[in-house]
Amino acid sequence: MAVSLIPDYVFNDYTAITPAFLRERGVTLLLSDLDYTLAPKSQPEPDEKLLDWVRSLKDGGVTLEIISNNRSPKRVERFCRNLGIGYVGHAGKPGTRGLTEAMRKHGVSAAQTAMLGDKLLTDTLAAKRGGTLMLMVEPKGGPVGAWNHVLHAMQEPFKRACEQDKRQ
Ligand SMILES: [Mg+2]
Repeated sequence: MAVSLIPDYVFNDYTAITPAFLRERGVTLLLSDLDYTLAPKSQPEPDEKLLDWVRSLKDGGVTLEIISNNRSPKRVERFCRNLGIGYVGHAGKPGTRGLTEAMRKHGVSAAQTAMLGDKLLTDTLAAKRGGTLMLMVEPKGGPVGAWNHVLHAMQEPFKRACEQDKRQ
């Protein structure tokens, strides 16, 4: 079955996503990518801004779980320990195994779940296949290396095609 690669929403930054925004859309579980979505890969621990945002989600009744393809669990583990949240490592995005595991763990359906990420061919494709809302953000720290410059340029038309592009 062909699935769309166009995200449902595009934001500059994860802080634009509030508990009210999610709950208005029936979402109680937010699954998030880590690298370049919540922090640049060079950042080893969550900063105050991220801690505040995670706290606000929790206070607003939204569960946050990290869904990462990271091969080494160390980074994800450290980040999640500091944030006080759970994670699914080796998630195999764009496959849906990680998303399904997290939804089962929290006892919610795809309609009650949103995926947050910076990449089209992993995060967005996984969300679309899994039937969840897809919230895309600009990669944190900008493109690192030649390949990421190409990748970001390739992603741009899909983000522009999104009817809810909130970057302006
Ligand atoms: Mg990422």
